[in-house]
Amino acid sequence: MNILVINCGSSSLKFQLIDMEKNEVSAKGLVERIGIDNSRIKYEPTGKDEVEQITDIPDHTVAIELVLNSIIDKDHGVISSLDEISAIGHRVVHGGEEFNGSVLIDDAVIKAMEKCIDLAPLHNPANLMGIAACQKLMPNTPMVGVFDTAFHQTIDPVNYIYAIPYEYYEKHQIRRYGFHGTSHKYVTQRAAEILGKDVNEVNLITCHLGNGSSIAAIKNGKVIDTSMGLTPLEGLPMGTRCGNIDPAIVPFLGRKENMDYDAIDAMMNKKSGVLGVSGVSSDFRDLENASKEGNERAQLALDMFHNSVRKFIGSYFVQLDSVDAIIFTAGVGENGITSRAEICKGLKSLGIEMDDELNNVRGKDRIFSTENSSVKLMIIPTNEELMIAQDTLSLIK
Ligand code: AMP
Repeated sequence: MNILVINCGSSSLKFQLIDMEKNEVSAKGLVERIGIDNSRIKYEPTGKDEVEQITDIPDHTVAIELVLNSIIDKDHGVISSLDEISAIGHRVVHGGEEFNGSVLIDDAVIKAMEKCIDLAPLHNPANLMGIAACQKLMPNTPMVGVFDTAFHQTIDPVNYIYAIPYEYYEKHQIRRYGFHGTSHKYVTQRAAEILGKDVNEVNLITCHLGNGSSIAAIKNGKVIDTSMGLTPLEGLPMGTRCGNIDPAIVPFLGRKENMDYDAIDAMMNKKSGVLGVSGVSSDFRDLENASKEGNERAQLALDMFHNSVRKFIGSYFVQLDSVDAIIFTAGVGENGITSRAEICKGLKSLGIEMDDELNNVRGKDRIFSTENSSVKLMIIPTNEELMIAQDTLSLIK
């Protein structure tokens, strides 16, 4: 049985075709610059040569048509007919309070998704375009929506209400939602498997550290708190996002620099984080290199990031009765040997000890704490696409 996983952005689209019997990716790829010049599709069938095609791709329907044609192409295709695709799983960024789990997509679900557009105006319209395109091209294939926010819907009001007048929650649903939920869910399930425990019995702190970063506190397999909020801007300093800052900075800068809301929003999302502090790059590898060459602001940006991760870990310890493991995942979490070491060094007061040799690995499942550590430290490569495919499969069954 094959599941097609689609992750639509406003001008790009990532896809994977997953063979669910083998739990293997049969083909994956990326369509870029949809609706602009120089659009292209990169298609990677497993075990065959990669194919790149530069062609006119005016909209998402054409993009998905190209994806489908590639998958069934007689030379580089991996299946012979679209009938071999049992279902399509769509990543949807914001499910608001409407969705606390994945759902089979029908007209009512699409209406509810449209209600969430206000909460993610950059992402949800693109996700909906992908769904509409698939509906047009494969009207009889079931589709499932998998939301970045859904896994966090178990958070209690004490952690999701902001201390602003309650009427704004009632009127505009302003509250913490949390993101990267599919990744936090995947690593939670994987950690339970590795620890040999029932998923409903694990207490974890899951650190998704990438270009965007978020941390979640997991009690008995369910999220009780997370660092991102109404939008993916809150929490840790990220590649280009500022994370937590004093909210008074917004009107202060507006007055001092004569910036309007859109300009401040763009500054906080695109020019801040480790890029803004270092002035070097949003990429952690560039920052490590710059710091080795003596760039103090690159080192400051790294120190701020590591310190912020530790502060969240500390605050989640207070909320969890006990912690089985701290999980590191995503680009920096899986590959950043120095970042993991810097973060874990600061956790000694909690009895947490890292084994330097075991930490010396990239992108592999690994427990890297010492025997004596009070809590296990684990690297678990995330796999959001597989999680989306598994949710899709369980719903069509
Ligand atoms: P993601 O958003 O999960 O794709 O993660 C992207 C981030 O992972 C970028 O900031 C990269 O610098 C970082 N990353 C990838 N490989 C490494 C590595 N070997 N060491 C440190 N950071 C890395």
